Amino acid sequence: MLPGGDMTIENTSRKINILEHKEDFTKRILSWYQWERRTMPWREEPLPYYIWLSEIMLQQTRVDTVIPYFHRFIGKYPNIKALAQSDEEELMKYWEGLGYYNRVRNLRATAMHLVENHEGRLPETYEELLKLKGIGEYTAGAIASEAFGQKVPAVDGNVYRVMARLLGVREDIKERKTQQLLKETVSALLPEEQVGDFNQGLIEVGALICIPNGSPKCGLCPVRKYCIAFEEEIQDEIPRKKKPKERKVEERTVFLLEHEGTYAIRKRPEGKLLGGLYEFPHEEGFYGPEEVRKLVEEMHLSPLSMEPLKDKKFLFTHIEWRLKAYHIRVEKPGEELYFADREIIREKYTLATAFREYLEKLDEEQQASFL
Ligand code: SF4
Repeated sequence: MLPGGDMTIENTSRKINILEHKEDFTKRILSWYQWERRTMPWREEPLPYYIWLSEIMLQQTRVDTVIPYFHRFIGKYPNIKALAQSDEEELMKYWEGLGYYNRVRNLRATAMHLVENHEGRLPETYEELLKLKGIGEYTAGAIASEAFGQKVPAVDGNVYRVMARLLGVREDIKERKTQQLLKETVSALLPEEQVGDFNQGLIEVGALICIPNGSPKCGLCPVRKYCIAFEEEIQDEIPRKKKPKERKVEERTVFLLEHEGTYAIRKRPEGKLLGGLYEFPHEEGFYGPEEVRKLVEEMHLSPLSMEPLKDKKFLFTHIEWRLKAYHIRVEKPGEELYFADREIIREKYTLATAFREYLEKLDEEQQASFL
């Protein structure tokens, strides 16, 4: 609980301290942002489509990783209309490696909706943006404020952390009521002009100064004079988060089935984890060579040779896959699985990230066999 009673904007005396100095606070954020911000293509050319696309790409993904994807993506799909007309399989290739593929499916569905109903343009208000598939409160706030200058907050994990430290909030920042309070405070601080820059400034302070891992760089912070965590030297205790739930562990055995340089792949069922992406066949559980041989025979294939590969782990948000794999050469491709060579798999099919490393492993094996 905040000092001063219930968590509401009216009865939190320390918070009102910032609000009383709102003008100075916003000026500090804006001028720091003007000089210290990182260069990003969507900041240099803040078109609504670019801001929308970058915000979706940045979910769960670092800026440095996103920038080359962003350039490639807008090179191929330069506007909402082009995205609406995209071929889904081809589109997935432009997202391959970013993961969380529902993001790009939602982008495409929303682009189609915008072309059909909004002349291919994003709506300008927070409320209208929030109605679109794949656009949540943060993204709607970011687009509305940065692309259309609307006076609305854009509060992401960075901003929740900065605000919690500034206000000395020791509550869990994943809790809805804590988030509500922090967001209310950001709303009350928004300037009349340059709202998008102010929102981005707070985000950037969170990304570069009031960092999530390790101690915040308070000596460089433009709003240190308003910070309760700094004053009370409790920066490392805030934000307080509940321990995340442990991931469910699933063991799988992967079959890299090869016939004369071609490999078996299959499409994952829609609506499931990694739905619609391609994978190497695999079975739940860990199996030794004899059991693997039987399982391969059940696929109506005849194994000629079999080599185990190094075990690996793959982490999803709530699940951990532990993977054992075998490279198995088979006599004939059979009829139940699709076999393609590695270049075709790379060019045409979007392999789920958990399986893509195996392609590289197979490349290495082939290079070693030529030496
Ligand atoms: Fe974060 Fe330190 Fe700035 Fe407070 S003074 S907002 S803890 S960087």
